[in-house]
Amino acid sequence: MITAQAHIDLNALQHNYRRLKALSGSQQVVAVIKGDAYGHGAVQLASALPDADRFAVSRLEEAEELRLAGITQPILLLEGCFCADDLKRAAELKLDTTIHCEEQLHDLETSTLAHPIHVWLKVDTGMHRLGVQPFQVPEYVSRIERTRKLSEKLGFISHFSCADDINHPTTQRQLACFNQATAQYDGPKTIANSAGILFWPESQFDVARAGIALFGISPSAEHTGRDHALVPVMTLNTRLIAVRKHQASRPVGYGETWHAQQDTHIGVIAMGYGDGYPRSAPSGTPVFVNGRLVPIVGRVSMDMITVDLGPDATDQVGDVVEMWGKNLPIETIANHVGTIPYELTIKLTPRVHRHYHQAQAHGVVIDMTQALSKRETPPARMLNQKGSL
Ligand SMILES: *Cc1c(COP(=O)(O)O)cnc(C)c1O
Repeated sequence: MITAQAHIDLNALQHNYRRLKALSGSQQVVAVIKGDAYGHGAVQLASALPDADRFAVSRLEEAEELRLAGITQPILLLEGCFCADDLKRAAELKLDTTIHCEEQLHDLETSTLAHPIHVWLKVDTGMHRLGVQPFQVPEYVSRIERTRKLSEKLGFISHFSCADDINHPTTQRQLACFNQATAQYDGPKTIANSAGILFWPESQFDVARAGIALFGISPSAEHTGRDHALVPVMTLNTRLIAVRKHQASRPVGYGETWHAQQDTHIGVIAMGYGDGYPRSAPSGTPVFVNGRLVPIVGRVSMDMITVDLGPDATDQVGDVVEMWGKNLPIETIANHVGTIPYELTIKLTPRVHRHYHQAQAHGVVIDMTQALSKRETPPARMLNQKGSL
């Protein structure tokens, strides 16, 4: 029996992309699928979005994987290329790159590229992580243009630091700064992330960049995706592997961190921090089983989690348990754990099987897991001692 499974609803993904597009006015929408699409599977998701305007990733290898899988739309490297060889490879792969510092500009000036490349100049408008200072923009623009290596007009990109907080004053300051720094140039401009799309309509320029919202998850701790008419893409399921009678006052699990207040039933589920479920989830964090929420009790182990099914439980070994997804918003789990949903989905480990579902026009649901799952590790006998093929 396969226990830990992440069900990925590609129809929900397509719905979310259309919804974000509708909210983005006349902008193009970049589907941000860095980090293997925040743990959802970048190739599978990109393949399910044939009409997406653009994609974006963080690392050259991520973009390379998409190109090898036949993805032909523009792919932006959000942090650009980290050395001259990467820049040459990016040009070969017809990727868009970012320039945020002198070293990257130097690489562009001095490298011979196989093709012209689409470059986006990153402007630091207040995040103070990457980007050139607004006063440096004219100098960078003229040096970049002088290289004559651009395939299109130079673009401009910046990133919000606080847009998930709808009252935060920094967002307006960043917008004013971006407007001022780029006003005299007519290349494409982009600043909005998911929070920008959902909460800051004034952040519309030519292109918006949607990451977390694409997966049906709200960027704000005060909302769930449903509040924005988004649908969760991932549902993380597993199964009960034991249902045990448990006496009042007895503890459960490592460290005896929880004791039963009453006679009850403890359910043991096949999921733990070895699957990427956070060990820091405290007693009281809910799971969904047989139509109701029940609390985690005691510590999360590597392979198991214990839950209080209650004195009258009729749950059976083998019953499905949802850790987050359609019936239990991942935002709720993130709030209990004290983290953000981004960290939960991206930290799922290869032990979790990913299943891709897509309803076709004639109503048949196809399961593309076999065809597309890249997490399948080759049989041990095909590996050499170093673990590579
Ligand atoms: C990750 C990322 C995004 C997407 O952010 P979300 O909050 O997931 O929408 C957009 N732009 C940049 C530069 C990023 O690094």
